[in-house]
Amino acid sequence: MPDNGLNDRTSRTTLFAIIALAACTPGKDGQSRSADTTGDRIIHADKEPGNWLSTGRNYQETRFSPLDQINQANVSELGLVWSYDLDTNRGQEATPLVVDGIIYTTSAWSKVQAFDGVSGKLLWQYDPQVPGASAVKACCDVVNRGVAYWNGKLFVGTLDGRLIALDARSGKPVWSVVTVDQSRNYTITGAPRVVKGRVIIGNGGAEYGVRGYVSAYDVDSGKMDWRFYTVPGDPTKPDGAASDDILARLAKKSWSPDSWRLTGGGGGGTVWDSMSYDPELDLLYIGVGNGSYWPQKFRSPSAPVGGNNDNLFVASIVALRPETGEYVWHYQATPGDQWDYTSAQHMILTDLKIGGKRRKVLLQAPKNGFFYVIDRETGKLISAKPFAKLNWANGVDLKTGRPNFNPDSDYSKTGKVWLGEPGPLGAHGWAPMSYSPRTGLVYIPTQDNAFPYVIDATFKPLPKGYNLGVNTSAGPVPINPMGIEAIRKTIRGYLTAWDPVAQKAAWRVPQGMGANAGVVSTAGDLVFQGSMAGDFIAYNAKTGAKLWSFDAQSGIVAAPVSWSKDGRQYITVLVGWGSAQGLAVGPLNWSKQGPRRNISRVLTFALNGKAKLPPVPAATVRKLQTPQQFADAATIDRGRHYYQRSCYACHGPSAISGGVLPDLRYSDSIGNPDVWNAITIDGALASSGMVSFKEAYSAEQLNAIRGYVIAQAHETVRDKGQ
Ligand code: CA
Repeated sequence: MPDNGLNDRTSRTTLFAIIALAACTPGKDGQSRSADTTGDRIIHADKEPGNWLSTGRNYQETRFSPLDQINQANVSELGLVWSYDLDTNRGQEATPLVVDGIIYTTSAWSKVQAFDGVSGKLLWQYDPQVPGASAVKACCDVVNRGVAYWNGKLFVGTLDGRLIALDARSGKPVWSVVTVDQSRNYTITGAPRVVKGRVIIGNGGAEYGVRGYVSAYDVDSGKMDWRFYTVPGDPTKPDGAASDDILARLAKKSWSPDSWRLTGGGGGGTVWDSMSYDPELDLLYIGVGNGSYWPQKFRSPSAPVGGNNDNLFVASIVALRPETGEYVWHYQATPGDQWDYTSAQHMILTDLKIGGKRRKVLLQAPKNGFFYVIDRETGKLISAKPFAKLNWANGVDLKTGRPNFNPDSDYSKTGKVWLGEPGPLGAHGWAPMSYSPRTGLVYIPTQDNAFPYVIDATFKPLPKGYNLGVNTSAGPVPINPMGIEAIRKTIRGYLTAWDPVAQKAAWRVPQGMGANAGVVSTAGDLVFQGSMAGDFIAYNAKTGAKLWSFDAQSGIVAAPVSWSKDGRQYITVLVGWGSAQGLAVGPLNWSKQGPRRNISRVLTFALNGKAKLPPVPAATVRKLQTPQQFADAATIDRGRHYYQRSCYACHGPSAISGGVLPDLRYSDSIGNPDVWNAITIDGALASSGMVSFKEAYSAEQLNAIRGYVIAQAHETVRDKGQ
């Protein structure tokens, strides 16, 4: 193992400088916060390689484990030590933390678990009782990406917008605050970070018209310290927030003067996942999401006098002071974003030798498909190259930092369908990447994909469900159920090993159809990653050769971690199919035998592990419902439009479910208008997430959707020759 996991002299010097800095510099506010014991431990994470103390393992979020007991020579002897089946069968996206042999993780519906890492015994589970109805506000399943740990407390953000502190030993709540306006469509799925005694938490909802921000809360009291809004608010009144000055000075002149009214007080720019922190520069970096609504036509149709229409700070990285929320710099990757090109993806901090000079850099592979190397002191772009297929821009101008836009991509202006690459899944989604200082490579869960962007000419925001402003029932979205193949073929997953200095791929492993899962790299020169098909795989970090795999019986999207206890190295990962791909993209988890069941569980591996998974339960045979059609062709087509606007994100495109939530073609309700109305109008299933849509659609419109689903069921029979 390299000394402290750092393999050159300069890095060690930097580390000593950080130690000195941490020891001597009092908090800027001059007050003593809850002693920064955990903060010091995270800063010196490589001194305790057996722990995984924050979601990215260290503040630089490298997701690299300095452990090397499991390595290329012996990984073939890796085996299961224990498994624990979770009580939610939905998407599982959490990165577990490991503190002195105790694993703290979260599962769907924002539940928190503590396990004895060695035995797999559940020590406690905390259920925040998220109301089922809040699921309708979540674009991408009721997922949660993990907890933060600080001096014996855990912090979790819940789907309905609360931030809860728990006693790590008992799992009992210590304090709880509501961090959002719960009357709006906010959700929290991201893991909090703790910096200098402040819990930092963002939120999601830019597909539903919210306004993004991050907030900082005192770890001990739960009192809010500061809030930073990422997009301008009501022009008649400031927020009284840390962002007031910079929004007035800089951001306001990058939006239409009437944006506040047009977006219904939204604008997007949610900070729904990524943050990292440089203790030496004392900068907190936040990754900001897409604009809301998607097309500028509905969000910010024209630039103000003397300004531009960049819509700051959507699709940007913003650097803040962690104690005050004060703005320091920003870099906007996709000015005026109209394609859901969030910059909320994982950000890694490291030092690289570029052009003979050692640079402090921030690395990001956001949805838009360019890999960015940014000077993290100044925010200046150093380099940017495509790491996946993209057609919206022809390179990035290094002088201005701006992309050279393909004019066809401005579908607001052209009014035409534009087949954009990547689509809203992004060339890289939320799944965390990893940087190995030993290979100098960044391992990126990558996907090539396309999407037909076109204005929804009849767009009016609805009080429930998606409010994108694009017509999701246009273009090559399959009308025919078997046309799902067409969508599946447009999404190709890869594990890309990227050289951030040369800005090119060192190797790429194709992973077939579908997006892919989070990764970890280790000092054993291994990269671990799960797959949609349910395989958990170890790759050679230098070549991409597949060295080992394990059949987890169900799709994996979460990132693994590596840790140790009593001299034994372990790998832990959550299994659970769902998330955006599982719900909105359809059955990508198909193996040769058809869709795989979702069995959500925690798996832990070590050398010579001998445990076995329980046998796969027998598949339940489902019967297509093909009641007599009551609707005429025009009604069915309207039903298709409503379905593709408001139902497909959960039940799958063209009424073909990804296997997590009910496939409506198989539901008794489509043949029974009373049952259909009880669900869609009266909200009979609201507690499990299927709320009433009566505020959004009339009874006649909801029944047009029923007619469309019946038509799809009949179409399925015809296609399969059943
Ligand atoms: Ca989005």
